[in-house]
Amino acid sequence: MIAADVVKRCQSCHTPFLVTGYQRSQNPDQAIPVQCPGCLALERLVQHRQGIVHLYSRQKGFGFIRDRQGKRIFVHRSCLVDRKHLRRGQRVSFCTEPGDRGPQAIQVRLVE
Ligand SMILES: [Zn+2]
Repeated sequence: MIAADVVKRCQSCHTPFLVTGYQRSQNPDQAIPVQCPGCLALERLVQHRQGIVHLYSRQKGFGFIRDRQGKRIFVHRSCLVDRKHLRRGQRVSFCTEPGDRGPQAIQVRLVE
């Protein structure tokens, strides 16, 4: 029996992606992924780090995270996984990628 195709929206980049019934029948025990194949591959490549929100402006939609080494990393609202604003002092996990003004945080998630 072939399961139905499903379209999911990636939890990280919010891009819709298709999980075909054929793919699902190949791995019936596997849950439907919450991330697109691209983000899944990226997550395996890049190491998530943790830090603390150092500064964040709701009006401007950006701020800075301070990582464990005390380095300030730029964070923009578009890189927040759940699209909610950050608050100073919150603990977050993130990856970094090179930006115009040094490294910037991507795939930023709140850590409980
Ligand atoms: Zn994605």
